[in-house]
Amino acid sequence: MTNLRFRKLKIDAYKPGKSQVKKLKKVIKLSANESALGFSPKVKKVLLSKNLNFFRYPDGKSKRLRIQISKKFKCNKDRIICGAGSDEVIQMLCQLFLREDDEVIVPQFSFLMYRIYSKIVGAKVIFAKEKNYKVSVDEILKKVSKKTKLVFLANPNNPTGTYLNKFEIITLRKKLRKNILLVIDDAYAEYMKNSDYKSGLNLFKNKKNVFILRTFSKIYGLASLRIGWGYGPKEIINALNLIKPPFNVSEIAQKAAIESLKDNKFISHSIKHNIIYAKKIKKFLSKYNIDTNNISANFLLLDFSNCKLKSKNFYLKLKKKGIILRSTEDGYKIKNMLRLTIGSRADNIKFMQATESIFKK
Ligand SMILES: *Cc1c(COP(=O)(O)O)cnc(C)c1O
Repeated sequence: MTNLRFRKLKIDAYKPGKSQVKKLKKVIKLSANESALGFSPKVKKVLLSKNLNFFRYPDGKSKRLRIQISKKFKCNKDRIICGAGSDEVIQMLCQLFLREDDEVIVPQFSFLMYRIYSKIVGAKVIFAKEKNYKVSVDEILKKVSKKTKLVFLANPNNPTGTYLNKFEIITLRKKLRKNILLVIDDAYAEYMKNSDYKSGLNLFKNKKNVFILRTFSKIYGLASLRIGWGYGPKEIINALNLIKPPFNVSEIAQKAAIESLKDNKFISHSIKHNIIYAKKIKKFLSKYNIDTNNISANFLLLDFSNCKLKSKNFYLKLKKKGIILRSTEDGYKIKNMLRLTIGSRADNIKFMQATESIFKK
């Protein structure tokens, strides 16, 4: 026994999408919504360059990157903060805004990190019901209390793939009390070609009670380098800068991110690739009565309610063949469904062939 005392947290730790299968050397990982096409060749050049000074500390303010972001997204560089993944920005926001007894509203099936970081700082997480696995503005508003400090929302949401259209999300902001910060996570914004969609950044660049999250982990293909950013009112950014670990983003991540922003060709290629294969796979799955959400980001939520196989069964059979999908029961508590990331051409074909052979039997 020791006398050391520390908090006993009652939280479920985040379980990432699996990346390995026992006894198999090579697997096809379609469980973490990573980029199907990796990263831009421009980034590769940076990663291979000889004048990377690893012995130096990185620029703690990510200045050059913030300038590049502000050019690309036509926004103010002084309202940007960079983090080791948008993850770290979520964590810093929770540290800044929340104390014990404060309340945070998250949609029932929203991305897990919002509830995890909120609980770590002792806040109470209030779940807003969804309708058909889609965020409901009314249900969020119903949950507002005197203690509400933050509302977190991923748009489109992971893992459901549904999204609030621009009118719905504008309504939410309008009706939310002005001293509640609405945090909109644009992680998949680049993939979205749906005509009724607008990113949080595009809609609310100048609003005082909105904070936007962006990441380099998805379409830019830099998940392992850990880099993302937040955009909000200057006072909030200044306060976050006091909390931020001094050298939170490595030099190589900053350089790679700068280059990734410059390669528009690679980005549009990735978007096209995603739409083509999302359509193909959605149609393919319907042959087996596996329903999915309407196409939005670089993943599909597969619903097995009408299928002769249970999701778990399908998951295990695929796993045996070395193909890994994301269970939605862990953490999200969504039953009889699976999340599938749209992969490279070769991976998608292998997934479809494996599925075909599973259902043939
Ligand atoms: C993948 C994802 C992120 C990205 O997190 P990073 O920490 O930037 O890698 C953020 N939000 C959502 C909803 C995601 O699905």
